[in-house]
Amino acid sequence: MSTHGMEREPCCVFPADGNTVTKDLFELKPVADGVYAAIAAPQYKVNSNAAVILTNDGVVVVDSHSKPSAARALYHAIQGITKHPIHKLINTHFHWDHWQGNEVYAEASATLEIIVSERTHQNLTDAEAGVGGIPHIARQLAALPAEIAQIKDQIVHAATPEQKANLENNLQQAEAFFTELQTLKPTLPTRAVSAPVTTLHENGREIQLLLLGRAHTDGDVFIYMPKEKVIATGDALVDWMPFLGDGYPEDWVHTLTALEQVDFTHIIPGHGDVVTKDRVVFMRNYLTDLIAAVKQAAADGASLEDMTPVVADQLGPKYEQGMTKYPMGQYRDRIGTNVEAVYRKVVHHG
Ligand SMILES: [Zn+2]
Ligand SMILES: [Zn+2]
Repeated sequence: MSTHGMEREPCCVFPADGNTVTKDLFELKPVADGVYAAIAAPQYKVNSNAAVILTNDGVVVVDSHSKPSAARALYHAIQGITKHPIHKLINTHFHWDHWQGNEVYAEASATLEIIVSERTHQNLTDAEAGVGGIPHIARQLAALPAEIAQIKDQIVHAATPEQKANLENNLQQAEAFFTELQTLKPTLPTRAVSAPVTTLHENGREIQLLLLGRAHTDGDVFIYMPKEKVIATGDALVDWMPFLGDGYPEDWVHTLTALEQVDFTHIIPGHGDVVTKDRVVFMRNYLTDLIAAVKQAAADGASLEDMTPVVADQLGPKYEQGMTKYPMGQYRDRIGTNVEAVYRKVVHHG
């Protein structure tokens, strides 16, 4: 994506399945006793996954998706599995698709604690921070009319009925998102943590908030349950191609090495399905190889334009399949922006 940004999704990568904007948003999957992954359905207008952690007297939720309607859908699903209130909401990082539903949980509980890292707290109000936070809401609103017009134009030129149906679904999502964003009530965190480890003792459950270093952003927080051996990573670990736009590629490699030292078996990633620990190694290898390939190409005198297809084909055999499991966030959709991000950040220290 797109995902995180205003870049356009290439036409028609998403099968027409008749889903509407409000139904079939999530699948709640048990990961450990009382711990669920809310895996977001792949949609044109992306939603993050969430983690849902039940305690003896309440619920802790990780991430609130891109919009209140999505958070509301998950909130109702949570009410179906427990009568206890949601005590705490944690935003893994400041990106739009992980926090814009916060208001739903705040409205449901006057005592809700919303926890982030100190850096994320700052990023949420910083216009320079990237694709999230309060300043990014206005940017999304400004970009949506052109995006909607573009989809309408693509519908006119659709080559097949499937493409047309797919685009009409995208259009419906974009229009609904535009409407919803106009009444969004940005709901900021109430608590920021900066220690490497912050332990929450929730009635019957220990939850650690880990700051392991810069990765997908400079404020990524990992939500770790040592007894259950489950960790929620936000986008520092995804089952898609990663988004590097606001990331720190070289630091990210080290942060994933630190993540590998943590004792867990299952990962609730920011996007894609629940994965096991080998995904950490796979993604670290990808970033390591990507950085090496871009550096080498630059050292050989290649321009960004020249090196992009070369690096894409060079890394493809090892990574394309594992980075192309879903209709969203695929290898070929993102390798170009990944190469560019590394070129800008690592080679030119931009
Ligand atoms: Zn995300
Ligand atoms: Zn993100």
